[in-house]
Amino acid sequence: MGTKPQDHGKRAGLNRLLLRDIAVIYLLTFLVSVPFYFWKLHSDLTGLGVSALARIDQFVDQTANSLVPLVSQPKTCSPSEVAQLRETVFRSYRVKEIGLIRPKGEVFCTSNLGPTSIQIYAKTLSRWHQAADGRTLALVRAKTGRTHSLFVYLQGPHGMGANALIPPDVLNELVGKGFPFPELPFAVKVAGNALAGVVNAPLEAGEMDPDTLSFHSSQNPVELQFLVTPAFQRAYMLEQCWIPLVLGSLFSAIYAFISRRRVARQSLPATFEWALKNKELEVFFQPIMDTDLGGPLGFELLLRWHHPVHGIISPMIFIPLAEQLGKIGALTDFVIETAIGFIEKNPGLMKSRYLAINVSRQLLLDEHFAERVCRRCGRSQHLIRHLLLEVTEDLAFSDQEMDRAITQLHLLQQHGFRIAVDDFGTGYSGLDLLRRFPFDVVKIDKVFIKELLPEGNAVALLDSMIGLADGLGMVVIAEGVETAQQADSLLQRGVNHHQGFYYAKPMPQSVLLSWLATVGVAKPVVAMAAEA
Ligand code: C2E
Ligand code: CA
Ligand code: CA
Repeated sequence: MGTKPQDHGKRAGLNRLLLRDIAVIYLLTFLVSVPFYFWKLHSDLTGLGVSALARIDQFVDQTANSLVPLVSQPKTCSPSEVAQLRETVFRSYRVKEIGLIRPKGEVFCTSNLGPTSIQIYAKTLSRWHQAADGRTLALVRAKTGRTHSLFVYLQGPHGMGANALIPPDVLNELVGKGFPFPELPFAVKVAGNALAGVVNAPLEAGEMDPDTLSFHSSQNPVELQFLVTPAFQRAYMLEQCWIPLVLGSLFSAIYAFISRRRVARQSLPATFEWALKNKELEVFFQPIMDTDLGGPLGFELLLRWHHPVHGIISPMIFIPLAEQLGKIGALTDFVIETAIGFIEKNPGLMKSRYLAINVSRQLLLDEHFAERVCRRCGRSQHLIRHLLLEVTEDLAFSDQEMDRAITQLHLLQQHGFRIAVDDFGTGYSGLDLLRRFPFDVVKIDKVFIKELLPEGNAVALLDSMIGLADGLGMVVIAEGVETAQQADSLLQRGVNHHQGFYYAKPMPQSVLLSWLATVGVAKPVVAMAAEA
């Protein structure tokens, strides 16, 4: 079946709404990720800062340990002691020079110069004296003012001290090890003197912006600062934007999946499938009475829809909808299955009675319908003779369609089904239909019964319809009998098959069985349905 233009329009509208919602989801995900982004930035930098400081501390430990043998004894700067200093420099990692220091802060012997006399800065000396573990660090600017040296000082037990000179690039190396942000500016401050730079460039003396993230070593007078510049933030955000992108895509996919399912479930064709699956549809039975016998000779099966939201929906509303949406086949199959189940469950009651099933115009045009019903009932004449198929007279068919419908009706009749023309007298094609197909039963529409007043025109029409049916040898059923007067009037005209509220309203199976008991139906009725 082709799709209608309004379906395309509706789908385009839904897609637009979906796109709008997805855009909102992405936006929200990005907004929600902003605090997350700051939290992650902070936690990433904290991790890096703490581990960089740990590496610096470990390096200072190693260097100080290499000085321990030099300060364990008093020294005089003898050639052999100078040789010991040089050997220690040679063995120590990155140490350039070692000096021996007297308690007053005089470097009296170095690995490079041998005996010498250099006074260390008073500030460094006082810090060193205050250090509980006899260790300190100092960042010293060379006389030229450009280069810096890093010194590790260690105090020995007999007033002997030593220091090791290290190029400050070591700090750069230690901070930069495994550092994922080579462009992030940082500074290492040793006892208040700062060296700043980035991982891949040499450190230079400099002050950091006040807007920095700082970490302090607990063992050494070392502070590490990261400068979170806008440029770095942008680069970091770009690197991290895959997180909201992935989350946004995930949420959007879930949302699209759920809303597509919801739309699919809410779509009308799916609603019918849903109703069938969830047993929201029920078949009601309305007795067709034989007034001579005083009991039902059959029952018309009428669909009811117990909608969970809208309550009971009339078939006048949902049958045309089901026809439009191509779901009438499934609904009719359901009615046929209910009929077969009822016949098989109630063989005594159904012995000489029939069940009337409404067959919509759409199904008569479906060339597989007759074949499907015949296949379902198989060769079981037992089932077939208990079924009456009603087709409404008001079949607005083209000539071609009418031919197809008549072919289907013949097929069904040849198979043994009896066929009734429903709502007779309301359409335009009634007579034409009677001419073209030998119906077994005529159901005269309720409008004629309603207007069954002695002076009304309808009476003349009714009489002519009854005469026509008699002439063609068809059984007449009068629909919509609501009063005793209508029933009497019909009886006077020889119509004794009545259906209407006067006798009983359509009812569910459970009520039908108790209703049958009240009308005292015990024995099967010998009627037109059962020649068996
Ligand atoms: P219909 O085939 O003409 O069915 C008879 C309708 O008249 C039923 O309406 C029934 O409840 C109503 N009726 C019976 N006695 C009286 C009465 O004394 N007075 C009045 N005013 N009404 C009476 P219902 O059940 O609402 O069904 C309406 C229509 O829906 C049916 O008209 C039939 O065309 C269609 N329908 C119902 N079930 C099915 C089905 O399974 N398949 C198809 N294709 N159509 C169905
Ligand atoms: Ca009917
Ligand atoms: Ca009818």
